[in-house]
Amino acid sequence: MNFHPIGAAYFSMEIALEASLPTYAGGLGILAGDTLRSAADMGLPMAGVTLLHRKGYFEQHLDARGNQSETPSIWGPEKVLQPLDARSSIVIEGHTIAIRAWQYTVRGYSGHTVPVYLLDTALPENPPFFQTLTDHLYGGDDYYRLCQEVVLGIGGIAMLRQLGHHHLMTYHMNEGHAALLALALLEEHVAGRSLAESSEEEIAFVRRKCVFTTHTPVPAGHDQFSNGLVRRILGDERTAALQRTGCLGGKVLNMTDLALRFSHYINGVAMQHGEVSRGMFPEYSIRAITNGVHAGTWASPPFQELYDRHIPEWRRDNLYFRYAIGIPLKEIRDAHVLAKTALIAEVARATGVQLDANVLTLGFARRATAYKRADLLFSDLERLRSIARNVGPLRIIYGGKAHPRDEAGKEQIRHVFAAMAALKDTIPSVYVENYDMRWASLITSGVDLWINTPERPHEASGTSGMKAALNGVPSFSVPDGWWLEGHVEGATGWDIGREEIPETEADEIAALYHKLEKIIVPLFYGRPDACAEMMRLSIALNGSFFNTQRMLSQYVLDAYFEGKSAMPVEHAVIERRRSGAA
Ligand SMILES: *Cc1c(COP(=O)(O)O)cnc(C)c1O
Repeated sequence: MNFHPIGAAYFSMEIALEASLPTYAGGLGILAGDTLRSAADMGLPMAGVTLLHRKGYFEQHLDARGNQSETPSIWGPEKVLQPLDARSSIVIEGHTIAIRAWQYTVRGYSGHTVPVYLLDTALPENPPFFQTLTDHLYGGDDYYRLCQEVVLGIGGIAMLRQLGHHHLMTYHMNEGHAALLALALLEEHVAGRSLAESSEEEIAFVRRKCVFTTHTPVPAGHDQFSNGLVRRILGDERTAALQRTGCLGGKVLNMTDLALRFSHYINGVAMQHGEVSRGMFPEYSIRAITNGVHAGTWASPPFQELYDRHIPEWRRDNLYFRYAIGIPLKEIRDAHVLAKTALIAEVARATGVQLDANVLTLGFARRATAYKRADLLFSDLERLRSIARNVGPLRIIYGGKAHPRDEAGKEQIRHVFAAMAALKDTIPSVYVENYDMRWASLITSGVDLWINTPERPHEASGTSGMKAALNGVPSFSVPDGWWLEGHVEGATGWDIGREEIPETEADEIAALYHKLEKIIVPLFYGRPDACAEMMRLSIALNGSFFNTQRMLSQYVLDAYFEGKSAMPVEHAVIERRRSGAA
């Protein structure tokens, strides 16, 4: 094993490492993967910690009416990951549970590496139930989930130590699932004394090391566990410590509270989400660092080739996307035609439906869950039909999985299926099964317009529109999340009703159809140069900012080493550059 000292450990319940590894469910995991890919590009001394998810998230099956069923997504970790000899352990309800780790190595564009440790409890010495703890991402009941969070937070810290990573400057909790790491750090710091006697200085010591990113303004997105369950799983002493630090005030342990209390830097994932989070947690100082996407992962092959020709520095320095403003429109259009052709071919292969490449194609794909309102576009089928008949033809491509227990999300998929069936003679459309990184890459780059219709202000950031922008695809979106920052009307896309300040959903729907009918469809068919100009502006204005390289630079500047000497890390980076690049 290559041993590199690390300065920051990034803990996340899900990390999208590769399209073929089912270790992620959606945007949170994609963000985690993109963050670590940028860390490798930037030569940062970082490591990732997550669970193995031996049975993945799930494979989605959709019947003719859009009823979703699920099967486990079995993969062979031993085929792709490197087994590590180190063992750590945790105690749950008096059982000592052994943990092993597998390593995935993220390689940056010029060879720097960032290790990701995937924790695994499937060891023969563990009691059978506990062998399954690292099987299912977001599976099981509250008991299973809290055990998983113990493995991630407490087991993760123990594993880092076993692997020789001792004096880190920063532990980054990507969402509250990892919050128990703070308790592990406190235990380590009080070194054998009772947690209940930990002093304010000792808590402050842990706080200086922790950074917390909260990801959702939807209360159901914040994990909560009953006090009884917490006591049962964590034991009396840890429970008393949680009580003493004020994390167990009511009847539940809210993992977000725990993370907030133990972090010196807390942020939301877009400007507006910072504000919304300050409203939710007024007693904390909450900043914002807007999410991004990893350019090398999400620029489609034709665009990578285009960028290599015109702005060869883009892989090292994403700010050069600003110079996309100098790329001839024709070449942008040509690259888009190639990306669209690749998408249409893949759709035909997967669904048997052959879409027409000359027709304006709309895309919508993300987790199917109520606030994302996947079916908003289909609110008035007669109106859509009339636009397609009288203004210009349309095609629509959808994708997205609902969590197995999210009935409202599943209902949305059925709605979309029913609408697509009703429209099929005028607007041939498809809903692709098993939306994953590969489909995300094809769809965000291959459609002509990216649709986003969340219920305000529930979209913390959203990242798929950023993937689209990097491929010159403008967005047509409700002004929520990242789009409040990325939107320039008529330049990078269009708002769904900011000027009108819609009071009701009906107003939003009216705004959506109005712009589609009067502005977007006529522009697409009547003014191809204006369209290509918007594609170019999407890349230059939004690709240059909404990437994980800019995002991670902000974490480094504002959070990871804030208030500490940045010297050791800068030094480490320079050393790595010298040795790695040579
Ligand atoms: C990017 C991505 C997401 C996140 O999409 P949002 O628009 O941010 O909700 C979800 N799933 C997959 C597979 C993705 O690639």
